[in-house]
Parts: sequence; C-alpha cells; structure tokens
Amino acid sequence: MIIGQILKSKSRGVMTARPEDSIQEIALRLSSRKIGAIVIVGDSGEVVGIISERDIIRLIAEHGAKALTMPARDGMTRNVISCTKTCTTDEIMKTMTRGRFRHLPVIEDDALVGIVSIGDVVKHYTAEVELEVTAMRGYLATG
Ligand code: AMP
Repeated sequence: MIIGQILKSKSRGVMTARPEDSIQEIALRLSSRKIGAIVIVGDSGEVVGIISERDIIRLIAEHGAKALTMPARDGMTRNVISCTKTCTTDEIMKTMTRGRFRHLPVIEDDALVGIVSIGDVVKHYTAEVELEVTAMRGYLATG
C-alpha cells in the first residue's frame, strides 16, 4: 500500500503552526485535535520544523512552566524527514523505526499535503494483512 491511499481515508488538511506560536498554543491544538505532532511552517507554507508531544514533555522537564511561553522555534525539530504519496507503508515503517519518531509529513511538489502517524500505518497494514490471510484461507479451502 502507498501513502496516497492512506491519506485518502484521512480528513483533509494538515494542522500546522508558525515558529512564533507558543508551546501552550501548540499544546492546545494537539489536545483539541487529538493528534501527537504538528508541522511548523514558514511564510510561504514551507516546512521548517515539527513539534510532537514528546518535545513538549522535554521542554517542560527542562524549563518548567516557562516552557509554555516559549516560541515553537525554540523547541521544534528542524531537520524534518518527510515522504511522498508514492512511498510504501514498508518504506515509511523503516524510516520511522530508524529515526525513532512516529510522524511523517507528506510532501508533493514542495507543498505539505498530509501527515501520517505510526497509528495510521499500523491500522492500514493490519487491514492489508487480514485481507491477505482471508484470501489465503479461501485459496486453501477451495484447493
Ligand atoms: P514522535 O515519536 O513523532 O512523537 O517524535 C519524537 C521526536 O522526533 C520529537 O523530537 C519530534 O520532534 C521528532 N520528529 C517527529 N517526527 C519527525 C520527522 N518526520 N522528522 C524528524 N523528526 C521528527
């Protein structure tokens, strides 16, 4: 399965934030949308970073309550690894495992078109494996 297929089953639009938005603002958006990471974009919509709930925990551990007023730019990961719609679930599972992160922005023609989480991948991967098992069982039963 390719990432484009996974994106079709997700709600459209990617939640983004700006480098100057506060960590509290980011935490609010993560909480209200029930998501684990937010992509940070620059003036032209280009991806400049990513912040996940893990970064927010680290900032609070390091700076206490002050972390909430810090701008996103001070807590985001700048070297963002992304994928395209034609990447396969196998490829991105390897990328996530190697990079030890659970979110991957999807970029097409320099534009952010979506984000996939490890949860999305596992959900679709499991459905795919179940389908294969059902097909194999049918094949065996009919000889
Ligand atoms: P996560 O497992 O996605 O919550 O993220 C763990 C760490 O990896 C955090 O510091 C994130 O900012 C960072 N991170 C998450 N996704 C990516 C990505 N696609 N590229 C680079 N770093 C990422």
